[in-house]
Amino acid sequence: MTELSQRGSAARPLRVAVIGSGPAGVYAADILTKSEQVKSGELVVSIDLFDRYPAPFGLIRYGVAPDHPRIKGIIQALHKVMDRGDIRFFGNVDYGTDLTLADLQKHYDAVIFATGAIDDAALNIPGIDLKGSFGGADFVSWYDGHPDVSRHWPLEAKEIAVLGNGNVALDVARVLSKHADDLLVTEIPENVYAELKKSPVTDVHVFGRRGPAQIKFTPLELRELSHSRDVDIILYPEDFEFDEASDEAIKTNNQVKTMVGTLTNWLVEQPEESTASRRLHLHFLHNPVEILGENGEVTGIKFERTELDGTGNARGTGEFLEYPVQAVYRSIGYFGSALPEIEFDAGRGVVSNAGGRVLGADGEHTPGIYATGWIKRGPVGLIGHTKSDALETVTYLLEDLAELPFAEAGAEDAIVNLLEERGVEFTSWDGWHALDAHEKSLGESFDPSTLGLELTRERVKVVAREEMVNISRAINAEV
Ligand code: NAP
Repeated sequence: MTELSQRGSAARPLRVAVIGSGPAGVYAADILTKSEQVKSGELVVSIDLFDRYPAPFGLIRYGVAPDHPRIKGIIQALHKVMDRGDIRFFGNVDYGTDLTLADLQKHYDAVIFATGAIDDAALNIPGIDLKGSFGGADFVSWYDGHPDVSRHWPLEAKEIAVLGNGNVALDVARVLSKHADDLLVTEIPENVYAELKKSPVTDVHVFGRRGPAQIKFTPLELRELSHSRDVDIILYPEDFEFDEASDEAIKTNNQVKTMVGTLTNWLVEQPEESTASRRLHLHFLHNPVEILGENGEVTGIKFERTELDGTGNARGTGEFLEYPVQAVYRSIGYFGSALPEIEFDAGRGVVSNAGGRVLGADGEHTPGIYATGWIKRGPVGLIGHTKSDALETVTYLLEDLAELPFAEAGAEDAIVNLLEERGVEFTSWDGWHALDAHEKSLGESFDPSTLGLELTRERVKVVAREEMVNISRAINAEV
């Protein structure tokens, strides 16, 4: 038997590296282990999952709002996959610095990039660089305790504009408007609680550029808005415009119908005067045209009023409106970051690919390099959609088996040796269990009576990278 034909056997498993341990990466690894070829014993795979952060789960840990109810189930499902023990985890390893493409190609027969999209899409309007103008994704990273962002976030505004009508805008607006004490039951880090607690905010305005039937929210996330204590939702009757496309969407799409129903009920039932100490305003048909400022700081925002054109798209009316705000958060979508040595489609913010087969500058696929998740198809869709995406990528990888280049360093410990030689302080799945237990113990030892509150905390997140690494790697020292 030749070396090549032995590949995929127990003696020489097919070695696959997955870069990124968010849902996209874990699903791809899981789907590969459950493929027919693997289940039947025809193919043996050995999968290593890498992440640049010391902890796993990517956007689940650093992109989802801490008070999101559906998140726990997803984390449990991802845990279950990794707890099986047939996929190795290497955290705190950065593709591009700690490992190059050549390293991966030397050690693995195939690489799947699942690095997601973490940057804010740009909004090119005057005033966007003023102090007080923020990217929503950056704010999300801050409140989720991302190790690489500042511990401090300037929460000085009483009135805030949030631009965009997607779920991230809702998350940002909800966290900005909620009372900090009501977020304390979640895993928010201490610095995040302390700063939110001091926030003087009274009014958060969310602006969509199209109508109520064109929102990109999802029904559960929209309904969640009304659960915030002492925060009134305010809607404006003049924003409730529906064109033919809206009527059609309401008739044919249950989600749209439900959400338009929710918004309309809120509008009809809203009291004449708000009694809460904070308000969350939902505005539609407002296209942002300029962020206004004085002495370099945000003082307001200017919109052109829009109207629907019959197709569900909006056009300007020539009427302009200004709102006094001291901070603006744009949540108009995420954007993928280019990966070293991989062809990038800068227009779409994705790795150049055909169904997950990564393409080179010549438009040709190099067998052995794949992509999945948001870095493959762009930052759209709920976490569950990532599964079908991963299935497509893995299917192509398996179709390409015969063409995959042969990695010369096939032994599983070769990559460990390489990382150790380079002094990379990588973390392991056991290390994650140690950090997980530590964060849970911080939650348990939290004493709410010092704040005059009654609540229990399941977990408090550790933020600093060094601390995360030390706690995770202490397990190695114990062995
Ligand atoms: P999104 O769903 O694509 O929404 C982007 C919003 O920004 C849209 O309302 C869009 O309006 C608006 N927008 C785009 N360009 C604009 C501009 N130049 N001026 C004004 N508005 C502009 O993006 P996202 O909110 O970042 O969410 C990304 C994905 O993650 C979505 O699939 C979302 O559902 C998912 N997600 C889910 C959850 C959850 O399940 N809880 C939480 C967070 C994110 P138009 O429609 O007019 O383009």
